[in-house]
Amino acid sequence: MENVAIFDSPGKGRGLKANKEFWAGDVIFAEASLSAVVFDSLAERICHSCFRRQDKLQRCGQCKFAHYCDRTCQRAGWAEHKQECSAIKTFGKAPNENIRLVARILWRLDKEGGVVSDMQLTTLEELEDHICDMQEDEMKEFKVDIHNFLDYWPRNSKQHTIDVISHIFGVINCNGFSVSDQRGLQAVGVGLFLNLCLVNHNCWPNCTVILNHGKIELRALGKIEEGEELTVSYVDYLNLSEERQRHLKTQYFFECTCEHCKNKTKDDLKMAGREKDGVKPTEEQVKEASDYCYQMMDKIEKARLNGDYHEVVKLCRGCIEKAEPVLADTHIYLLRIYSTMSEVQSYLQYFEEAADYARKMVEGYVKLYHPNNAALGMAAMRAGVTHWQAGLIEVGHGMICKAYAILMVTHGPTHPITKDLDAMRVQTEMELRMFKENEYVYHSMREAALKNKPMTMMHEPKSVEEGIKDLFHRRK
Ligand SMILES: [Zn+2]
Ligand SMILES: [Zn+2]
Ligand SMILES: [Zn+2]
Repeated sequence: MENVAIFDSPGKGRGLKANKEFWAGDVIFAEASLSAVVFDSLAERICHSCFRRQDKLQRCGQCKFAHYCDRTCQRAGWAEHKQECSAIKTFGKAPNENIRLVARILWRLDKEGGVVSDMQLTTLEELEDHICDMQEDEMKEFKVDIHNFLDYWPRNSKQHTIDVISHIFGVINCNGFSVSDQRGLQAVGVGLFLNLCLVNHNCWPNCTVILNHGKIELRALGKIEEGEELTVSYVDYLNLSEERQRHLKTQYFFECTCEHCKNKTKDDLKMAGREKDGVKPTEEQVKEASDYCYQMMDKIEKARLNGDYHEVVKLCRGCIEKAEPVLADTHIYLLRIYSTMSEVQSYLQYFEEAADYARKMVEGYVKLYHPNNAALGMAAMRAGVTHWQAGLIEVGHGMICKAYAILMVTHGPTHPITKDLDAMRVQTEMELRMFKENEYVYHSMREAALKNKPMTMMHEPKSVEEGIKDLFHRRK
């Protein structure tokens, strides 16, 4: 690990700094998890070894809990599952994901000792657990987990003190990393990556983390000087500084004093009124429209969870009609509604309208996010595909190229989603050329292509990106 070094970050405790200069897209380090588990809710739909989503999984004949793509995955996952398998059988059921993760970690450490790789910069023992910072109700749940863990932990496994066990629960509570599926679109499990725990937060960070082929990669978002602290953002930037600070305080137990929080950078844009012909709406008008959107977002979310997509469209449309004349194109509530609207419209195959809202969403994001933010890249990809589906090939190709440029930095060329994007880039480029030569031929070819749905993005609109905006997993 000659790329990074541990140092004392003023006001933050331990942190990591760069030992040399890095450029946008450089992988600073890659790391395998100490251990990872599939979420309880997805235990039958995600492979417990490779974390891929598959339609047909085979379940473990012994515990009937773990599921795998095939024999190869089952064999690959056996070392991690062996003790878990018999513990689940004895216990009578699988305990929750936190308990399963702590148990897997302990079995691994018991077998291999505190240092499992020569790349490892810290031990689990040295990480902070923040148990003394916990709120009362959180503490209650915490104690229930520990109690259940003790019932689950086999008598013939090595016994540990309550302190050791609580410490691990505390560490995964604030540092359990959301593991996403192979395409990076949905959080499907939680894992612990020790070196990553050393990377401190900044709301405007110089690095990003991405899971690629089972390992996380810390990637540089821009030029980083030798000696500079390496940071990632634990929360989505599309919240006001006050909201981010509150979230960081309750979830990660620290006050964010980054430049963007101190100066409330871009907060004004995120809550701005729309200026029209030199006239701005009054403060009350902006507040009224913001409050209205806020209330509606709740209703929209409920309708979406119920799968009532026509209701979602109706609510969004009403909200946009009322708020759009008053709120700026960078207002974060308006942007959230654009995002939902485009996703649902695209699912319902109203591509033109979906494209329109997706473009507005990206235009707002561009003014707010860091130019190499992964969420911006994903939004540009979605907008590009939607425009392509709507037959708006010029804008579509432009958006896909923009998304590709960002994902080359945030995900890198070998990530499955970057490869998908590259294929789309090539196809839309070819189509664009055809479009410019002969519009009629292009349109008839597009009809045929749409029927085959080669670029389908029409999964259930559950705002897949939302689920992965928070860096670390939080128990519900
Ligand atoms: Zn698998
Ligand atoms: Zn099993
Ligand atoms: Zn901050």
